[in-house]
Amino acid sequence: MNPSIQPLRPIRELPDELISQIAAGEVVERPASVVRELVDNALDADATQITVRLVAGGIRSISVEDDGLGIGSEDLARAILRHATSKISSLTDLERVATMGFRGEALAAIASVSELSILSKTSDQDHAFELIARTGEIRPAARSNGTTVQVAELFFSTPARRKFLKTEGTEFAHCVESVRRHALTRPEVSFQIWHDGKLTHQWRAAPLEQRLSDVLGEEFITESVPLDYKHGSVWVKGRAGVPNAARSKSDQQFSYVNGRFVRERVITHAAKSAYADVLHGARQPIYALYIDMDPSRVDVNVHPTKIEVRFRDSREVHQAVLHAVELALAKPRLGADPYTTHENNHSHKNDSMNVSQQWSQPSINWGRSVVNDLGQLWSKSNSSTSSPNAFKQIPQTTQFFSQNVPVNEQTSGLDHGLNPDPKDTDNSFDIHATRGLSENPSLEPLGQALGQLHGIFILAENEHGLIIVDMHAAHERVVYERLKEQLESSHIQTQPLLIPHSFSATEEEVATTENNVQTLLQLGLEISILSPKTLAIRSVPSSLAQADAVALARSVLEELAEHSGERVIERARNELLSSMACHAAVRANRRLTLHEMNALLRQMESTERSDQCNHGRPTWRQISVKELDTLFLRGR
Ligand code: ADP
Ligand code: MG
Repeated sequence: MNPSIQPLRPIRELPDELISQIAAGEVVERPASVVRELVDNALDADATQITVRLVAGGIRSISVEDDGLGIGSEDLARAILRHATSKISSLTDLERVATMGFRGEALAAIASVSELSILSKTSDQDHAFELIARTGEIRPAARSNGTTVQVAELFFSTPARRKFLKTEGTEFAHCVESVRRHALTRPEVSFQIWHDGKLTHQWRAAPLEQRLSDVLGEEFITESVPLDYKHGSVWVKGRAGVPNAARSKSDQQFSYVNGRFVRERVITHAAKSAYADVLHGARQPIYALYIDMDPSRVDVNVHPTKIEVRFRDSREVHQAVLHAVELALAKPRLGADPYTTHENNHSHKNDSMNVSQQWSQPSINWGRSVVNDLGQLWSKSNSSTSSPNAFKQIPQTTQFFSQNVPVNEQTSGLDHGLNPDPKDTDNSFDIHATRGLSENPSLEPLGQALGQLHGIFILAENEHGLIIVDMHAAHERVVYERLKEQLESSHIQTQPLLIPHSFSATEEEVATTENNVQTLLQLGLEISILSPKTLAIRSVPSSLAQADAVALARSVLEELAEHSGERVIERARNELLSSMACHAAVRANRRLTLHEMNALLRQMESTERSDQCNHGRPTWRQISVKELDTLFLRGR
């Protein structure tokens, strides 16, 4: 007999406890999941003060104490039943649910894998009651209004699960993260976290900005800009970090949908795209995004932990987040006082007093280690002028530009930039492209040029002190933004290939080609389908004639498969322009006259995103007189 053939086994219904334990696997992964669920419940009960106490990273015990509405004694036993909830009672309720919980399974799940007790008092009871989940016993107890849920010996009954837990320190960190996520969306609620009897975190009720600063550190505020943008029925608020604040990890990216913390691809992708223009691909921006929308347009019931949601119209959300962040970043850097940021969206062309108040890039901290900071400043700026991209030769750029863009008088500064031979262009740096020199240039935000340093930096004097500009990086940005503006309506010039490049493609690539013929043409790519598995490239953008056509086509198809055509066009074009701008921008070691330097400063002031070069590095820095005084120990 074949040993692998088992005798037929009868179908049985699983016992309740096993059902709960299986369900618990989805909801309760580690102590932090328990913390998340219990804090959710406290918030749903309108608590204003929530205290989380952990022992041994939450593995030994977790208790969450709130001053919310409480649970009546007659409801206590039901609270821990599976699918028992007070939050919804019909499908209609589910479709517009506004509470954190609604599935009625957290307490049941937790009770099945731990020793759980609930101590609670409502305002109309004269004393509290305590429920011991394992025995079902309910007894009178003492407590003020509110609820304490106590969870001990998590996974004591499921040792396999327990083995997956990490060290106490790691589990504790996850628990803190879980509370942090709540704290960032409910600033009006006070939170305390205790670990092994010690108070480790305390966030008092405060306005949102203060809460962000308390939880994430003051730098989060000083290094971010506010956003507030409505698109259709979607409203995006919060703060987005400036490119310089980006990190190697994505640990400071918080997004919320209707107050619920989510990790949602639509949102992270949109946010990332908003930084595409100012941030190197591997860097992770920081942000806290609060998305409010009609609850019936988002399905929160797609994941047991509700960390993923499904949007009825994900494009709408994508656009809203993208524009919200893009708009916020496009405004030139805000003033030293990050709390007064709502006045910053007016044009700053004619209002130099106002401008100079806004323009105050966080200056360098000289206090601690001057040498260090100087070193950093130096290497940062240096690397931006010698980055691999910076001197890349793109042979066709000049031709591409001149064929496509009528060079307009106002912006003729570009023609210096586009001339590949700097010798021929001395003194041709355009000063007409700007709004002209003001009466008193040191009142201008970026001040009056004093001279050049090492052929790399421009030094200028403004109201606050010294301004140092990385001349290549800054000009590159200015040229790039101008090119973008000018090319907005033009098409990309193409060049037919003498011999079409055929290559074997995946089914997805072929399908994408079929569905996007027009978009591809707009991008300057003509691709035809030779067979269900072969594509042929017939023309490419002239400016990229030297590029690897197959690699180019593949990456464009991949982008197209993933995102909407419009966005890809924009991105591809921006990449082309970015290479062009880099090539076009004024090079190191070119002597500029003071006039030319001032012209560049004025152009920077009127150019969006001119605070950072295309790779996200700063283009200028302010060193205040006070910092210089400190440096020379003056006034001590
Ligand atoms: P859900 O939150 O999805 O309703 P839970 O299992 O988390 O399911 O909780 C079950 C019920 O217990 C809730 O619907 C609520 O009525 C009650 N409850 C739980 N925790 C609290 C609390 N801290 N304060 C008041 N009521 C609570
Ligand atoms: Mg709940």
